[in-house]
Amino acid sequence: MPHKVKCPYCGYEMPLTYAEKAVCRGVFIRCKGRNCKRVFEIKIEEKTK
Ligand SMILES: [Zn+2]
Repeated sequence: MPHKVKCPYCGYEMPLTYAEKAVCRGVFIRCKGRNCKRVFEIKIEEKTK
C-alpha cells in the first residue's frame, strides 16, 4: 500500500506517494495547500522491527 506525504504545517495531502520500504531525507517540497506554500523536508525513516 502506498503512503501519502502530508504537509506537517497544514496537513495537506501532497500528490506524492511512497512505498512501505521507502527511506528519504534531504528532499524538500513546497506545499500545494492554498494558504500554506511552505517548504518542508520529506523525512521517511527506515522502519526497524
Ligand atoms: Zn501545508
